[in-house]
Amino acid sequence: MIHLDHLEKSYPRSGGREYVLRNISLEIRAGEFVSIMGPSGAGKSTLLHILGMHDAEWQGTYHFLDHDIRTMPTAARLSLQRTHIGFVFQQYHLLDDLTVAENLDLPLSYRDMKKGERQARVADTLDRFGIVGKKDLFPSQLSGGQQQLVGVARALIADPSVILADEPTGNLHTDQGREIMELFTRLHAQGVTIVQVTHSETNAAYGTRVVRLRDGRVDTA
Ligand code: ADP
Ligand code: MG
Repeated sequence: MIHLDHLEKSYPRSGGREYVLRNISLEIRAGEFVSIMGPSGAGKSTLLHILGMHDAEWQGTYHFLDHDIRTMPTAARLSLQRTHIGFVFQQYHLLDDLTVAENLDLPLSYRDMKKGERQARVADTLDRFGIVGKKDLFPSQLSGGQQQLVGVARALIADPSVILADEPTGNLHTDQGREIMELFTRLHAQGVTIVQVTHSETNAAYGTRVVRLRDGRVDTA
């Protein structure tokens, strides 16, 4: 499903380049639940953003469902991303001038879906995440934990085949965090591919494999 070969990411630095990801070769099969772990600054978020096709400035090869992401036209790549990927951002990235309900509707608006069906889907999701009472509020009116829940709900609402989640429970209470992991476990059982970045061994234990990053390299030790 996801295949990286000698992927590298670097930034220009005086007198050369600073490598953030180095020689990453990684295969993630459909239906896997992978946890990416490693110290702060190891390149975990950078890698996840490349997998999510938010970042096109890298070297090497990336195949997603047999599509060569490097050579794919931008519009086709965007369509692939919107059809298949649900992304939970570490910093939430909700749209500030849209309400919670409008934020949730956004991924559905890219689908060929009738208005009524979209509204029903948003209502179901608000209910499932226990945030019905927040639907008309703006992100700035929510706590960090509530924004994170909305971010997870938004990533899942359009039934993606792949979920990429950057520390999805980092700002949640223990109970809420466990609910998200249980939700991921159910989706995984239904065949959804999940890649999460986490610092928590407890969260990693919900997955089927751990990939450790250190200084931009996959740590095979
Ligand atoms: P992690 O998520 O594992 O904590 P990141 O992927 O966020 O790590 O960052 C990896 C490294 O990339 C860090 O050393 C960070 O300083 C560096 N980095 C991130 N963005 C930039 C940038 N725009 N310019 C230069 N270095 C950057
Ligand atoms: Mg990070």
